[in-house]
Amino acid sequence: MPERISEALQEKLTRRLAFYQDIGIQLFYRDRYPQQLVSVTEEIPLPKPVQKSLPVKPVAEVRPGPAKLDVFPVAPGPSLFEAINKIPDDTLPRIQTDLGDCTRCKLHRGRTKLVFGDGNPKAELVFVGEGPGRDEDAQGLPFVGRAGKLLTQMIEAMGLQRQDVYICNVVKCRPPENRTPEKDEVETCSPFLLRQLDAISPKVIVCLGSVAAQTLLETNRGISHFRGEWLDFRGRKLMATYHPAYLLRNPSAKGEVWKDLQKVMAVLGLQGRRASQAAKSS
Ligand code: URA
Repeated sequence: MPERISEALQEKLTRRLAFYQDIGIQLFYRDRYPQQLVSVTEEIPLPKPVQKSLPVKPVAEVRPGPAKLDVFPVAPGPSLFEAINKIPDDTLPRIQTDLGDCTRCKLHRGRTKLVFGDGNPKAELVFVGEGPGRDEDAQGLPFVGRAGKLLTQMIEAMGLQRQDVYICNVVKCRPPENRTPEKDEVETCSPFLLRQLDAISPKVIVCLGSVAAQTLLETNRGISHFRGEWLDFRGRKLMATYHPAYLLRNPSAKGEVWKDLQKVMAVLGLQGRRASQAAKSS
C-alpha cells in the first residue's frame, strides 16, 4: 500500500511538478498527459536541445565590432569596466557603504528603498537582473515579486536555495513605471555591480535578460543571438538567458531557460544534487 502524504506536501509537489512540466521535464509526468501516451511503456523524450552546447567563447568572438555599438555608444577610450580599477580585498559591506544613500543618478528620486543585492557573499553562482520593480522597491530586496517567485523556483529546480546564490541588478533603484534603465543610469550604477561581482568572485554569472547581458558584455546585440552560450566576462563564465518576467509573458520559453540552467548546473557540478533532491521530495 503506498503511504499517504499530507495535503500540504501534495500541494507543494503539484506546484513543483507543474513547474517542471513548464520547463520541459516531462518524463515524470506521463500520467498528467494521458493523451500523449500511446502505451504506458512508451518513453516521452525530453525536448531536444535547440543547439549544441558550445565551448566557452572569448568575448571577442561574440562581441560586435565597434560600429554596431549604437545602443551604448561608448566614447573612444576605456570601456565602461576597464576604467574601473579592481579594489583589493573589496567586500560587499564596503561596496554598500560606498553606495550609501545614493543620489548619483535621477533614479534615486522615485525610489522607496535601494536594492543592493541579496544572498551568499561567497556564492559560486550570481544572477544579475535589470533593476528593482515595485515589490523590490518596497522591500529593498531583489526578485521578490512575481518574476522573483519564478526565479526562486528555477533556483530550487537546480537543487539550490536562494541563500546559496547571490542575486542583484544592474541598477539599484526602481526605474519609474518599471521602464528600461537609461544609458546614464546604467553607466552610473554598473561600477557597483562590477565591484559586487569582483568581491563575490563567482564561478558563473547568469544574466537575466538583455539589459544585464548587454551591460556586462558591452554589446547591443539582441539576447537571442547569444542566449545559452558560454561567454567570458573578465575571466568568468557568463551565461545569458531570458528574464523571468519574459517567461511570465511567454511560458513556452521556460524550456529554453531550463536548458541554459542545466549547462550552468553541469559547470557547478549540481546535476547529481538536483536528482537526489528531486528523489527526496517525491
Ligand atoms: N526584475 C529585475 O530585473 N530585478 C528584480 O529585482 C526584480 C524584477
